Amino acid sequence: MPIILAIILAAAALPAAAYLYWRLRYGPPPAGSVPILAYHKVDPRFELGGTRTTPAQFARQLRRLKDAGFESLTLSQAVAPPRAGGRPAKPVCLTFDDAYQDFATHAWPELSRQGFTATVFALTDYVGAENTWDINWLGLRFRHLDWDALRRLAAAGIEIGSHGASHRDLRHLDDAELEREVAGSKRILERELGMPVRTFCYPFGRYDARVRRAVERAGYAAACSLAPPRRNRAIDPLALRRCGVYLSDTAWSVRRKADHASPWFWTQDLFSRGVNFCAGGAALARRLFRAPHRGTTDDKE
Ligand SMILES: [Zn+2]
Repeated sequence: MPIILAIILAAAALPAAAYLYWRLRYGPPPAGSVPILAYHKVDPRFELGGTRTTPAQFARQLRRLKDAGFESLTLSQAVAPPRAGGRPAKPVCLTFDDAYQDFATHAWPELSRQGFTATVFALTDYVGAENTWDINWLGLRFRHLDWDALRRLAAAGIEIGSHGASHRDLRHLDDAELEREVAGSKRILERELGMPVRTFCYPFGRYDARVRRAVERAGYAAACSLAPPRRNRAIDPLALRRCGVYLSDTAWSVRRKADHASPWFWTQDLFSRGVNFCAGGAALARRLFRAPHRGTTDDKE
């Protein structure tokens, strides 16, 4: 009997300790912040990493969000002061890192079918190219959207933001490289798309005060991390929190990730931070075994 009691106590203590850790270390998002989901690939093809969502999962997740009354905003809309009509009662921001081709073939048709908009973060060195910046496990590669597709999506109301030029951990770059990644990628996107680019997404979600200043200097209105390292009591538009969506997610968990008021939000936030912590390994491997720069698009402005 005492053993059973000890097991029950241990089973109860573990979630309590996890909650306490989350509460003290990160805490709930600042009041008034719009929940932001971070997707990567929406693709039926197999890959070893878990940052993929299948098109069927994606459709189910959007349906659940729609049934629960969520309405989407682009990232620029999410950080702008609410218009005269106010914000939707349940706003959510759907973001897609790396701008893979599958966004146009799988994500966008489903988004438009279900009445959602989105923000896509492009890498200017890899527009139209394969993702050789990543660790291509088993030699599997995924293609990024080309300029024509990005222009079509932008014209259809999808917000195109910058994810830098070459997907490197910006904290380890010198000033000139940092400038090329942050301000240079913005200039290239604006030139190619013919419209202002207001939003940025830190590669690997990693940034520090110097990187944040570079993003501010470049004139971005908003920037996303995946999991800012500290709690922020007020909304910092250049250090926005997001919840990552992974292959293990269900419509139930995505619904909780999109709802800061959910009693289960903390479990999803903590899980997302755990996965992002592991992504640090990919960033490190990228630095150690650095692939040569493509430099397909030069910034001559
Ligand atoms: Zn990325």
